Amino acid sequence: MKRFEDKVVLITGGGSGLGRAAALQVAKEGAKLSLVDLSEKGLEETKQEILAAAPEAAVLTIVANCANEPEVEVYVKQTVDKFGKIDSFFNNAGVEGKQNLTEEYGVEEFDHVVNINLNGVFYGMRHVLKVMKEQGFGSVVNTASVGGIRGVGNQSGYAASKHGVVGLTRNSGIEYGQYGVSIKAIAPGAIMTPMVEGSLRQLGGDNWEEAGKEFVSVNPMKRFGKPEEVGFLVAFLLSDQANFINAAVVPIDGGQSYKY
Ligand code: NAD
Repeated sequence: MKRFEDKVVLITGGGSGLGRAAALQVAKEGAKLSLVDLSEKGLEETKQEILAAAPEAAVLTIVANCANEPEVEVYVKQTVDKFGKIDSFFNNAGVEGKQNLTEEYGVEEFDHVVNINLNGVFYGMRHVLKVMKEQGFGSVVNTASVGGIRGVGNQSGYAASKHGVVGLTRNSGIEYGQYGVSIKAIAPGAIMTPMVEGSLRQLGGDNWEEAGKEFVSVNPMKRFGKPEEVGFLVAFLLSDQANFINAAVVPIDGGQSYKY
């Protein structure tokens, strides 16, 4: 099944983890891709993986900071200049931030995390939705988190930003449904990516793999999710098949968010 033949898919955070997994999946299904990330190296690795799996794929890579609004305007413009439209947008770049008590959570750290995870998602929607409204079609998937629908603890900046992403998704989904554009969020929980390895290292240092075992012991499925499992979900949500799913938040967490 090739759901993305002649479709243009824009992905932020395309240089690693969930963004890379989603990029690979839609590329295998025929998508033309515009990949945005701070990391040029990460983008190049993703591009090579895509070309190995889908040699015919058209892949534009753009180094940009999603938390910088003028750079967001440029990555959207570059995508439209190259491919003429944007069918689907995976608004996904994000950081985890430090883990500690609210009183110890630094103001600068809070601003940093919110600036990328929330402001960056807003800037992306602001520019992409303008294009999609004019086109009269499009789908957006924003990356929230279990930490955006439940209280997890020790994550002030992350929790605030991801709850904000859920709010933006609901708000804009209500606004743009009438233009044929659907907007949804995913709420992943503990998918094994470089970000999760980083947060386990914060908990366990060199013993991070042991910390990982303890972490998943409370998950109903007793394991981490795989990036490709998120890639399958995101590809479905970005496709025409999911057009009537709007303003919704879809957890992908082994059931963890229903357990808290
Ligand atoms: P990751 O670290 O593997 O990938 C994130 C990518 O985003 C990196 O390539 C990084 O360079 C890029 N990035 C970070 N800040 C950026 C910026 N300002 N501008 C452009 N690019 C930037 O992490 P991941 O696990 O793939 O995370 C992707 C998204 O999923 C994030 O929003 C994260 O909060 C969310 N998430 C992940 C999990 C999980 O378990 N992995 C769970 C919930 C939510």
